[in-house]
Formats: sequence, structure tokens, C-alpha cells
Amino acid sequence: MPSFVPHPRPQPEKRNLQKVPFVELFDGRLQGVVSSGSSADRVYVSLIEAGTGNFYCSTNNNRPCGGLGGGGGCKHIGEMVNNAIAQYGAERVARYLGVPEPQTSAYGLIGSLGGAKTKVEAGEVFARFLDYLRYVELPASTEPRPEMAWFVTG
Ligand SMILES: [Zn+2]
Repeated sequence: MPSFVPHPRPQPEKRNLQKVPFVELFDGRLQGVVSSGSSADRVYVSLIEAGTGNFYCSTNNNRPCGGLGGGGGCKHIGEMVNNAIAQYGAERVARYLGVPEPQTSAYGLIGSLGGAKTKVEAGEVFARFLDYLRYVELPASTEPRPEMAWFVTG
């Protein structure tokens, strides 16, 4: 009986899975999970709402992101947008969000829509990320995986 050797998932060309392990256009939002630049066991949930351009960023424990300013979001939202564009293309991202012209930056997307910081619970987005991980992990082994490192606590 041939043994099943899991192949690594093919990675889209320009996406940085270390930095942004999860990004999607879903439920009227561009939303994603972004690794913290400073702490290996913290992630941020970033999102931009279609139509309004309203945006938010917080840790998976709902602590507001300290870098979340007034007009253009934070560096996590910026990373999320970069990776969304790498995955979906600038045109599709702009169309989904309702921006007339393709934009290549978070500032451009949010600015075109006139969005403002608007609190959204990170939990609902983070739960989708965990579901997604469960899905992609299914055929793989039970060995510890480096990309799961931030879930280790204590
Ligand atoms: Zn942030």
C-alpha cells in the first residue's frame, strides 16, 4: 500500500504566507489575518468593508491595534491589501470593495471610499481563519507545524 506523502500547498507567486497567512474577499469585506511584526505569538485581524471603506484592525483577542490611525489604516491593513492584490489582483479587489479605479495601496482603497475606523469583532474573522486552517490541515500529518506556532501559549 503506497504511503501518502503530503505535498506542500502550492503557494501563489507573490503572497507572503508568513506575513499574511489568511486573506479573503468575503461577506462584504476584504479581511485577513496578519502576523505581528514584533511578537511571534500574536496575530492581527485586519479588514476593510466594501462600499464604505470602513476599516479596523485588532489582535485576535480583540485588543485594538496601536497603529490604527485615522485615515489610512495601519501597517497590518497595508500588508493585507498587498497580499490580497497579489492573490486576487488589484482590479478584483477594487471591484469587490466598490472602488472605481484599481488601487495598489490600503491608503488608496480606503481613501477612495472615504472610510473611517469602525470597530468590528475580530472573533468572527478569526473563526473563519481557524476553520480554513482545519480544512487545509486535514490531509496533513499531526506533527507540529511552524505556521501554527503562534497558537502555542504559556
Ligand atoms: Zn494593525
